[in-house]
Amino acid sequence: MAPHKIICRECGRTIEDQYLDTCPSCGGLLVIKMDLEPLKAMRPKDLHKVPIGVWRYAPFLPADPSAKVSIQEGGTPLYKCSALGNEIGIGDLHVKYEGANPTGSFKDRGMTVGVSHAMEIGAKIVGCASTGNTSASLAAYAAKAGLKCAVFLPSGKVAAGKLAQAMFFGATVLSVDGNFDEALRIVRELAKERHLYLLNSINPYRPEGQKSVLFEIMDQLSYEVPDRIILPVGNAGNISAVHKAIMELEEIGWISKVPMLTGIQAEGSMPIVRAFNSKHDDFIPEENPETIATAIRIGNPVSGRKALKAIYDTGGHATSVTDEEIIAAQKLLGRKEGVGVEPASAASVAGAKKLVEMGVIDKKEKVVCICTGNALKDPDTIISTNQSPIRVSKGLLGIKNILGL
Ligand SMILES: *Cc1c(COP(=O)(O)O)cnc(C)c1O
Repeated sequence: MAPHKIICRECGRTIEDQYLDTCPSCGGLLVIKMDLEPLKAMRPKDLHKVPIGVWRYAPFLPADPSAKVSIQEGGTPLYKCSALGNEIGIGDLHVKYEGANPTGSFKDRGMTVGVSHAMEIGAKIVGCASTGNTSASLAAYAAKAGLKCAVFLPSGKVAAGKLAQAMFFGATVLSVDGNFDEALRIVRELAKERHLYLLNSINPYRPEGQKSVLFEIMDQLSYEVPDRIILPVGNAGNISAVHKAIMELEEIGWISKVPMLTGIQAEGSMPIVRAFNSKHDDFIPEENPETIATAIRIGNPVSGRKALKAIYDTGGHATSVTDEEIIAAQKLLGRKEGVGVEPASAASVAGAKKLVEMGVIDKKEKVVCICTGNALKDPDTIISTNQSPIRVSKGLLGIKNILGL
């Protein structure tokens, strides 16, 4: 296992107890500090003996690859999207399609490392609060590991595909009267009393696995650093993990410039965008977040301050998009590129389009949009925002009319 320490992001204290998710003295978030010394003597291609995927990057991970709980996560396609780029005015546009992960979202990258750690410390029950994808992913990895799993979902607000997955993989599914933030509060209390091991993104091990999306993008672009990486921001774990990966590559000298990290939120749920607009490094939580993009319907992002730091340190940007813009972008990606993503993921494409129009993105930039989850996660939204199947009688004449033959 690559050498590492757990430290408190706020007070800097080193934490020995590997079960904790927050600092016992100041309550701050915990982060993992990897010892990257062994990597300084290596080149990216030295890792290529292992196929592309999360575990190719084991020297960057605080977990033992020989004891991993894996369903072959990562190794997702990076599509060059010329037709979409033409449409929105970006010359060199790529989409990293995280919908191709085993459970259909990027959450699998963090979960393979998080659940491997749960096994290492001997946890018997794992749990999380979730807008859907975290629970789908945790349920699958808990099944693979033979662990009991409890997931807490905001009642009535979880997309059908995600709920179906959590049920299917055998988790105990609990429906909480309230939003995600409330579900998280409950599961955190249970974790504090050590009834279960918490695998939300405040868990310091999960973001370590999520770093791999950036390592893969770099490998897939042969280490030509993109000018900008755009991603949707909910709890802000992903953008923070991508930032950490960038800093680690800089530290070991594998890259000499950094991509501008650009976070997109939905207009009804945009605490980070508000903070960015007023140049603050902390945000004010929102009470009643609302958006069709349920995966980013989060008013009090756990890693919100880290996200703001990621954006400021890389000279990036944050902006919001409306639900209408999200749905339009979802259709555009489907119809120009044959790539199906869920609404939250389409926010990155909608944000790219908007930032070109605002003059923030230069048309000559090399841009990567991270599309975080699969279209089939949320079939109801697709069915209600697209043309219904056309009813036809058996006579050919009517059918020919419809097809314009
Ligand atoms: C979890 C999730 C997000 C938000 O990621 P954060 O790390 O919470 O910012 C975005 N899109 C999809 C599909 C997700 O599952």
